[in-house]
Amino acid sequence: MSVSGDLPDLYIGGAWVHSSDGGKRELINPADGSVVAVVDEATSDDAARAVAAARATFDEGSWPATPVSERAALLTRIADLLVRDKELLARIETDDTGKTLVESRVDIDDVVSVFRYYAELIAVSSDRLVDVGDPTVISRVVREPIGVCVLIAPWNYPLLQISWKIAPALAAGCTMVAKPSEVTPLSTIAFVRLAEEAGVPPGVLNLVQGSGAVLGAALTDTDDVDLISFTGGLATGRRIAEIAARRVTKAAVELGGKNPHIVFADAEWESSVDQVLTGVFLHSGQVCSSGTRLIVEESIADDFVAELAKRAAKIKFGNGLDPASETGPLVSEQHREKVEAYVALGISEGAKLVVGGERPADPTLATGSFYPPTIFDRCDRTMRIVTEETFGPILTVERFTTEDEAIMLGNDTEYGLAAGVRTSDAARGERVVRALRHGTVWLNDFGYYTAAAEWGGFKKSGNGRELGPAGLAEYQEMKHIWHNTTPKPAGWFKGD
Ligand code: NDP
Repeated sequence: MSVSGDLPDLYIGGAWVHSSDGGKRELINPADGSVVAVVDEATSDDAARAVAAARATFDEGSWPATPVSERAALLTRIADLLVRDKELLARIETDDTGKTLVESRVDIDDVVSVFRYYAELIAVSSDRLVDVGDPTVISRVVREPIGVCVLIAPWNYPLLQISWKIAPALAAGCTMVAKPSEVTPLSTIAFVRLAEEAGVPPGVLNLVQGSGAVLGAALTDTDDVDLISFTGGLATGRRIAEIAARRVTKAAVELGGKNPHIVFADAEWESSVDQVLTGVFLHSGQVCSSGTRLIVEESIADDFVAELAKRAAKIKFGNGLDPASETGPLVSEQHREKVEAYVALGISEGAKLVVGGERPADPTLATGSFYPPTIFDRCDRTMRIVTEETFGPILTVERFTTEDEAIMLGNDTEYGLAAGVRTSDAARGERVVRALRHGTVWLNDFGYYTAAAEWGGFKKSGNGRELGPAGLAEYQEMKHIWHNTTPKPAGWFKGD
C-alpha cells in the first residue's frame, strides 16, 4: 500500500515535487517487515527551497493578513475532511507505526479536535486595550503571526504531534515547513494532500521529509525562519536550541520524559492496576508521557507488582490490523535493539526482572519488531534504567514509605513532562500534585489530555507549550500599538 503511488511526496510552494536528486526511501511496516510505501526523500536543497517558499509567502502573500474568520473556516474544513478520511488515515498510521487501528482512530479523532479547537479559539481571540491615562491615546496590544515556522515531529504519534503545530500555526496566520520523522511520514503526506483540498493557499504549508540529520541545517540554521517548533528527543532538541540561540530564533522544544506514577496504599486497587498497565504499555511504551516509573507504597508493593506481572503477561500484542491485538510492535528493528539494550542494562544493574525481557517465541510474530511488556522490580535511582528514557514497554518499580519520600522520588528526574498520583485521600492528593515538578499531573487517572489544556514539560522535558491558548501564543508576536488621536508636541526640548 502506498499513500500516493508514484505521485511526488514533497510539497513546496503549492506544488507536489519529487526529490531534486531522485532520492527515495522505503518505509517498513514494523508488524511484518513488509514495504509499506516508497516515498521521496528530500535533499538539503529541497528543504532550503521549502523554507524560501514559506518566507516569500509570508513576506509577499496575503495569508498573514487573511481575516480571522477565513482562517477559522479553513481549519474547520480541514477538520471535516479529516473526519471524512478517518479510516484511510488511521490505516496509514497503523501501517507506518505499527500501533493498533483502535489507537490510530483515537489519534485521528484527537487531530480533528485540535483543528476544531483552534478554529474556535482564533475566532474569539481579541486585542487587549491598555489604559495609559490619556483619553486621546488608544493603546492596544495585538497579536500577529510570528512568521515562518519550521515544524519538526517524531515518529510515535506522527499526525497527532504535527497537528499540534500545524493547527495553531495556520490559525495564527503563519507560513510553515512541516518535517515529519523519516520513519513515519505517510500520514503527514496524506494530511497535506487533504489540507490542499481544503484550500490552504500555495506556499503556506510546505512539506519535506527525509533524514533530520541531512535536512536539519537547511531547516534550522537560517535567518529565514522565525520559529522552530520541535518535538523529539533531548539530544536533538538541545542541538536545535543551540542553533536557535546563536541565531536568536525562537525555539519551542518538546522533549522526552521519565514519568513517575505514584501509588499510595489507599489508592483504589482495580483502577490503579489497570491504569499503571495502560500508562506504560500502551503503544508498547513509545509515548513521551508513558508512566515508566512505578513508585509504590511499600506496604502494598509485593501484591501490586505480582498483580501487574500477571496481567502484563496476558497483554495481547500483534499486528495492529488484527482486532485481537491490544498493542503493536516497536516502530523499527533498530528501536527494538535499543529497548533490548536497556533490558540487558537493567539486569546488569541488579534490577529484578519480573516478567517479559525476551523477544516473543510465537513464530507468527517473527518478522515484526515485537517486544513484550517487561517489568523490573527492586529498582533504585542509581540505575540508568530508572533515569533514562527507554521509550519501550519497560516498567521499573521503586518503593516508598512516606509521602515526602514519594514526592522526592517523583521529582528525582532531569525530565518533568508528566506524572500520576493515586490515593483516596483528596488532601494528600492535592499536596502531592502541587509538589511535583511536571507539566501534566494526573490524580487518580493517567494519560488523558484535551486540546484546550496546555501540554509541555518542566526542566529537560522542554521549554514550550502546545495545545490550549498558550499553544496558539507560541505562533504569535505581540505588538503594542500606541495611537494618539490628538497629536501634540511632547514639549521635552524647549527650543530656546
Ligand atoms: P528525534 O529527536 O530523534 O527526532 C525527532 C525529529 O527530529 C524527527 O523528525 C527527526 O528526523 C528530526 N531530527 C533529527 N535530527 C535533526 C536535526 N539535526 N535537525 C533537525 N531535525 C532533526 O526523536 P524521535 O523521533 O526518536 O522521537 C522520540 C522522542 O520524542 C522521545 O524522546 C519522546 O519522548 C519525544 N516526544 C516528546 C513529546 C512531547 O510532547 N514532549 C511527544 C512525543 C515524543 P528523522 O526522524 O528523520 O531523523
